[in-house]
Order: sequence, then C-alpha cells, then structure tokens
Amino acid sequence: MHFSLVVPCYNEEDALPHLLDAVTPLLDREAGADWEIILVNDASSDRTLDLIMQAHTRDARIRGVSLSRNFGHQPAVTCGLAFASGEIVGIMDCDLQDAPEALIALYRRVRHDGYDVCFAVRRRRQSGWLMELCYKTFYRLMHGLSEHPWPVDAGDFSVFNRRVHLAILALPETVRVLRGLRSWVGFRQCEIPVDRPARTHGKTKYSWLRLLALALTSLTGFSYVPLRLASLLGLGMGCFSLLLGGLFLFNRLFPKFTILSYWIGANPGTTTVILYVSIVSSMLFFCLGIMGEYLVVMLKELKRRPAAVAQLIIGDLRPQPSQVVLSAPASVQP
Ligand code: UDP
Ligand code: MG
Repeated sequence: MHFSLVVPCYNEEDALPHLLDAVTPLLDREAGADWEIILVNDASSDRTLDLIMQAHTRDARIRGVSLSRNFGHQPAVTCGLAFASGEIVGIMDCDLQDAPEALIALYRRVRHDGYDVCFAVRRRRQSGWLMELCYKTFYRLMHGLSEHPWPVDAGDFSVFNRRVHLAILALPETVRVLRGLRSWVGFRQCEIPVDRPARTHGKTKYSWLRLLALALTSLTGFSYVPLRLASLLGLGMGCFSLLLGGLFLFNRLFPKFTILSYWIGANPGTTTVILYVSIVSSMLFFCLGIMGEYLVVMLKELKRRPAAVAQLIIGDLRPQPSQVVLSAPASVQP
C-alpha cells in the first residue's frame, strides 16, 4: 500500500460524500491506484456507517472501521492509524475544513522532498473572535510550556511516512493527543501554511467543554510546568504569608512600627483576614486542581485501557503493530 488516508467521522452524513468526491480523484492523480481511505466511524447515530459501506462497495479502496461507542476525535484518529498500512499516511477531518488540495501539498513534501512529516499550520480560521482568541492562546501556551517543540497553530492535519507512523503507534500511552505525539517523535518535519475555512456541511462536534478537555489533556500530557508552577506558587505564598504574619505580629507588639501608617491593634482587621484567607485558599484550590488534572492522566495510564475498541471492519484492513486499539471482536465485511 502506498498511501493511507485516515478520516475520523462522527455524524458526518452531510459532509462525507463531498469529502470522498473531492479527495478520491486527487488521490488517483497523485498517488496512483495504490491508496486507501480509512473512514473511522466513531459510533455515529446518523447514516455515516451506511455511507461508508456504500462507498466501500463502489470502491474497495475506501475502507472503514466502526468503533463500539463514541470514543471521541483523538481515539478515532488513533484507531485509523492502527489499521493504516500505507508507506505514507495522512490525517484529515471529514468536513472539508482541511482542504484536499492542501492534503496533496503535504503529501508531496513527504513523498518528493524527503521530509518525514509535513503538517498544516492554520494561517486564518473562519471562526468567531472568541474562539480564535482561545485557539491562539492555547497554541502559544503549549508552545511555551511543552517539554518538546510544539508547533503553533498546527492541528492533526498532516502527512507522514511509515517510520513516523510506527513510532507514533509504538508510544504506549492511552491518553493521546496526536499533534503532540507527532511533534514529539521528531525526525525531519516541515510545515505548510493553510487557511481554515468554516464548515459548510454538518455541524461541529466540538463543544466548548470538549475543546477545554482537549486543551487540558494536551497540557497535562506534554508539560510539567503547571505542576511545578503549583509548587512555586505554594512556596511563594508561604514566604509571603510568613512575611505578612511577622510584620503584623511586630506591629501588634510595637505600635510605633506601623505598616503604611496602619496599626493592627486599632481595629480588629477583619478585611485583612478575609482577604488573606480567601487568597490563600484560592491558591490552595488552584494547586489542588492542577494536581487533580495530572492525577486523572496518571490514573488513565495506570489502567492501560486501549484508546478505542473497534467493532466492525469494512474492507481489507490489517491491524498494525500497536496496543492502543482493541480490535479482537471485529467482524470483517467482504
Ligand atoms: N469527530 C469524531 N468523534 C467525535 C467528534 C468529532 O470522530 O466525537 C470527528 C469529526 O467527524 C471530524 C473531526 O473529528 O471529522 C473534527 O471534528 P469537528 O469538525 O466537529 O471539530 P472542529 O473542526 O469544529 O474543531
Ligand atoms: Mg471541523
């Protein structure tokens, strides 16, 4: 197999036909006849699975994996990768927000220019200003905080060769943010700027809550700075409270030494106490929250559950060496 394209699909009955119409001729032209599209049905409740089966009947190179329940975008991509056998592998969304022409540009860089990975960097997004601000902040935060170079404004839309693919699959973690793993494995990487148009078919599956969850998973998966920040914050607050406590005590015992002409003995100082207690307790809860986030990840990794369970395989797909997807009970369709 020369080229495998992995596409996660969740309730994409409106978008899927347009995607296949747009991508198939381009693949025929660029990659010859030897390609496959792996459509991962993330337990859609609409006709997505039917459409995948119909597409497979029309063209056997369009294949599918159907998950046993809705696992989410990242596990769905992971599952597609676990079945991709191409020398070169691509990932794109189903809704044509990742342009098929850009996919070909990414593919060419890997195929002809000797790069191991080529990923798309979003130049412009057609989303609301608040969403745009959140995306921009998130990517810059990750860029600054990640243990390894995390490219700014790059999503999962990318193409890479087999050695990168196998390296990503060999990583044992179950909590997987693909763009992070892809940059973590290294090799020769390059980027291509793209514009990200608005979705024209179907609706987004990412609510604000889901986006926040993805941001937190990225942060806890690839940066230890918040944990250290928590300790630093605790240390800083500790020093500050010691100093403040000492000053107040001194001031209480020796009224001549006022703090900004304030003598604590003059009134009970309720405000100070309330402010102090609230600041300290908010810091404590903040630190506890950060630790909780990391604990969640540790717990998930300890359990060693696979990222997703494949229920049905449509077409000639073989599992690649990896433990991240469970596919034992899959039934194979002709
Ligand atoms: N997706 C998925 N499972 C989910 C949510 C989304 O497989 O639970 C797929 C979806 O079908 C699409 C891609 O992930 O192909 C990106 O989702 P979407 O376009 O809704 O996200 P957005 O582009 O709005 O961030
Ligand atoms: Mg989209």
